Amino acid sequence: MPDAFKAMEGLIDRISNRLIWKMARRTRTVATDVPIVSFTFDDVPDTALTNGASILEKHDAAGTFYIAGGLEGLVEPDRRLISRDGCLELFRRGHEIGSHTFTHHRLRSYGKSLSADLERNSEYLREAGITRPASNFAFPYNAAWPLARRELARRYRTCRGAGEAINRGPVDPLMLQSVEIRQPEDHVRGLTTWIDDALKNPGWLIFFTHDIAETPTPYGCTPGAFEHLVGYARKRGCSILTVEAATRTLGWEDTAQ
Ligand SMILES: [Zn+2]
Repeated sequence: MPDAFKAMEGLIDRISNRLIWKMARRTRTVATDVPIVSFTFDDVPDTALTNGASILEKHDAAGTFYIAGGLEGLVEPDRRLISRDGCLELFRRGHEIGSHTFTHHRLRSYGKSLSADLERNSEYLREAGITRPASNFAFPYNAAWPLARRELARRYRTCRGAGEAINRGPVDPLMLQSVEIRQPEDHVRGLTTWIDDALKNPGWLIFFTHDIAETPTPYGCTPGAFEHLVGYARKRGCSILTVEAATRTLGWEDTAQ
């Protein structure tokens, strides 16, 4: 992709994220005395299963994995995307499978075909043997798109963007914010300050990352750094929950948005 085009895409992402915030409807409240921490994975690389899920399980926790079925088995430099058997294994091991579209494009590029694409991903997950339909969604490239709001609200309880913030007080469930875990190593280990912040003023801290590998891509981190974060959240008494479990704990599942 030419650089100028990439820069333009980035600019549109920033503007649309601002737009969706203007249109945000803060219809849910994060009310919790104990900080909630969720570890989420996008795309999902196979090392998020082999390393990421195993580390969470070691600490008696589960994660949320936002799968884009169209990326199945894709081999990229330094990472391979998960197979459908891998998705099923995550599900069987008690992790949550969320949706991330099927074809993994920015939402604004779909137009009227968005519904069919989201449906295709549901079918993909169903065919993989995942019997619980995805109730949570993450925006590809964290690029929110206000015009998709109605379609998303019809299908999902929450949508996650980036935003580098803790969800507190009144929030828009279709624009949950999250904090990125990505190398370098020192930076990831330093993300414990977010957990300290959540302990001081409880809210819902959602982390997101991609691969968990000894030589991670720029979008992931090492198993050691990831375990440092999970272990810290556990040791400090945070409630480590999947996104789905967090919405239940917060009492969000009953009423319409
Ligand atoms: Zn993605």
